[in-house]
Amino acid sequence: MKIIVAKNSGFCFGVKRAVKIALDAAKNGQVYTLGALIHNPPMVQKMGKKGIVVIDDFKKIDNEIVIIPSHGISPEVLKKIKPRVKKIIDATCPFVKKARDEAIKLSRMYEQLIIVGDKKHPEIRGILPFLQGNVIVVKDKSELQNKSIGSCGIIAQTTMSENIFQQVVLKASKRSNEIKVINTICDATRKRQTSTLKLLKDVDIMIIIGGHNSANTRQLLELCIKNKKRAYQVEDEDELKKEWFKNFQKVGITAGASTPPWMIKKIREKIQSF
Ligand code: SF4
Repeated sequence: MKIIVAKNSGFCFGVKRAVKIALDAAKNGQVYTLGALIHNPPMVQKMGKKGIVVIDDFKKIDNEIVIIPSHGISPEVLKKIKPRVKKIIDATCPFVKKARDEAIKLSRMYEQLIIVGDKKHPEIRGILPFLQGNVIVVKDKSELQNKSIGSCGIIAQTTMSENIFQQVVLKASKRSNEIKVINTICDATRKRQTSTLKLLKDVDIMIIIGGHNSANTRQLLELCIKNKKRAYQVEDEDELKKEWFKNFQKVGITAGASTPPWMIKKIREKIQSF
């Protein structure tokens, strides 16, 4: 069986940076992350053994060192935790901050701001409280259906599908006389999507590695399905099933931006052993 790993897969700049910040901070003792530092449970578990502990409820913080995760937090939460912590270390990805700054700017300049993304994702929940005026979060073009659109700015969650974003822009542009588009999908997300698209044409089956809570991993899976490629998402090697590979000769592997390199290696070895 031939196994090919997508050129751009696994850890991105922002995740690598957040992991390094947390590991450096944990050298001097236990530290806490407010929610998972990154959306990859096996990696979060591994970091837990090195003294990086996830705390889900800010009310449980009691004079500890707290790290803000790569996807950021809202200003309200930040305000609430400040009096409870010993120190705050900010591991928010600079690209998430850039998307937030663009959203703030556009929400002041136009009648409406359209954000293409998931309103429940921590990144979007972290941006919304900074915005004023009429803000709509849509997960795809169908959600614009019954909305009236005036002059508007459009941005995206950093991990959004490029294709879905372009579809929303096209639909909005047909219904508004004035739109300003700032594509805030980060380069790491875009490169992982492009590499996956390229690879899936050359293989029989795709394995997508990443947390089940990872938005950009889900986008990679959806990309494969949309292109009619047999594809499965796994978080770790135990989720692989031997029967998936029966009768297939070429396997493609891709991985979301928060998947560590050691997990890609483990999955590759396990598939090879089938
Ligand atoms: S996917 Fe992009 S925005 Fe998210 S952490 Fe990585 S580099 Fe930053």
